[in-house]
Amino acid sequence: MLGDDRPAAPAQAVIRLTLAAPAPRGLCTDCGISRTEDDKRCGRACQFIQPDYPALETQVHGRTRDAARPDELHFGPFRRMLRAALVPRLAGAQWTGITSRLAERLLETGAADAVLAMGSAADDPWRPEPVLVTEAAGMAQVRGMKMGYAPLLALLEPARARGFKRLAVIGIPCQVYALRALERELGFERLFVIGTPCSDNTTTERFHAFLDLLGSHLREDAAAITYLEFRADYHVELRFADGRTRAIPFLMLPLSQLPPDFFPLTCRSCVDYTNVLADLTVGYMGGTGAQWLIVRNDRGEELVDLLGSELRSGAPISAGKRHGAVKGFLANVERAAGGLPLRKMPDWLRPIVGWLMPKVGPKGLEFARARVEMKAVESIVHLRREAPRKMKNMLPAHVWALARPYGLEAREGEEPGTAGRHSDDFPHKV
Ligand SMILES: Cc1cc2nc3c(=O)[nH]c(=O)nc-3n(C[C@H](O)[C@H](O)[C@H](O)COP(=O)(O)OP(=O)(O)OC[C@H]3O[C@@H](n4cnc5c(N)ncnc54)[C@H](O)[C@@H]3O)c2cc1C
Ligand code: SF4
Ligand code: SF4
Repeated sequence: MLGDDRPAAPAQAVIRLTLAAPAPRGLCTDCGISRTEDDKRCGRACQFIQPDYPALETQVHGRTRDAARPDELHFGPFRRMLRAALVPRLAGAQWTGITSRLAERLLETGAADAVLAMGSAADDPWRPEPVLVTEAAGMAQVRGMKMGYAPLLALLEPARARGFKRLAVIGIPCQVYALRALERELGFERLFVIGTPCSDNTTTERFHAFLDLLGSHLREDAAAITYLEFRADYHVELRFADGRTRAIPFLMLPLSQLPPDFFPLTCRSCVDYTNVLADLTVGYMGGTGAQWLIVRNDRGEELVDLLGSELRSGAPISAGKRHGAVKGFLANVERAAGGLPLRKMPDWLRPIVGWLMPKVGPKGLEFARARVEMKAVESIVHLRREAPRKMKNMLPAHVWALARPYGLEAREGEEPGTAGRHSDDFPHKV
């Protein structure tokens, strides 16, 4: 939430810097590397150029994902998963504030000298702007989700120049991929990586266009919307400056009125929904109304321990069947990619199906599996149409394994090349 109920922090606790301009790139979410001293590192660091997930999973977690272990094909390597909430919840946080509280604890205990995270621009609370936070009180300024991508990693060199040796980074998957690819040469003594899942991102400008559309559709003032979240119960939650909240079923949203390129190709073809290279992923998809933690390695366990009794947690649940939902999604993605109108439900049926979906649709981990499979099929369909030559590099073998039950097979020239070269777990030609 981006309201004004956040406590003020000392100005020096949050460092904001003027950044160099980005270098021109093709597929790029401006993670910040092209703005650093050696912008040529994009070639090695970018998830859109020649990613190597198996190698980086092994570097970070000691092994690559193991399809024989439950859920690793979908969510990447992990030790355990939790359904969790921070108690008491933090005002102004996106969910209960687990992410912010972890960063506060790292600073309070001295485990980290600084936290690299995403604050808001002074003139637009929705616009992400990277910051370095050096005191726990400063984390109050970065709570909540902003919409869009911003050059988080451009602050790595300034962090090192200021003498911060133990750094925590909170990032979305495309930022975390580049961070891990360059981790060994960055020269930090300790790096804590807290990742959030990410999907369907776009530029802040386009997000504002969506808010305007949503506002007029719902007869609300778009400028008064302070919070938006796509929840796992098939509703979008909105909060308003006057304290009201509304939950709108997905089916009642004006999504079909968005232009076909509303989401950039980067975000339509991004293969790492669950942030597999983070030490700890903090999301909500598998949380059935609570938060969802994926603890991936020792450092992830260390992070969870920092919360002690402030964290209430249990095992995630799983219910329902995803296959039909993913199949229907694929059919619509194929129509949209082919320039055909989406199959629309008659208006009279929408409220009924919107009411039914939370009751009969996949829930908990099954909902998260469905979303990951939807992303996999979406990546294949969009890249095949718009950038077929990038497929062999951008789509690792596990994406094909996720898409295979829906009839999508790699054609000649699409098989993983570099992207899957270290994987023994998934056949490269599927
Ligand atoms: C664009 C985007 C899409 C997301 N999509 C999903 C999804 O589909 N499924 C899912 O389970 N979770 C998703 N998340 C994560 C989810 O919204 C919550 O951020 C996460 O669960 C943490 O909640 P919290 O209360 O612990 O966060 P808070 O304590 O409120 O902290 C939020 C943290 O997110 C970071 N952040 C905020 N905006 C951005 C941004 N634009 N770019 C990079 N970092 C940012 C900030 O550094 C901040 O530290 C998404 C997050 C983003 C930014
Ligand atoms: S996303 Fe990052 S690594 Fe990739 S091209 Fe853009 S700046 Fe470079
Ligand atoms: S959807 Fe993927 S590419 Fe787009 S901003 Fe999120 S992590 Fe980056």
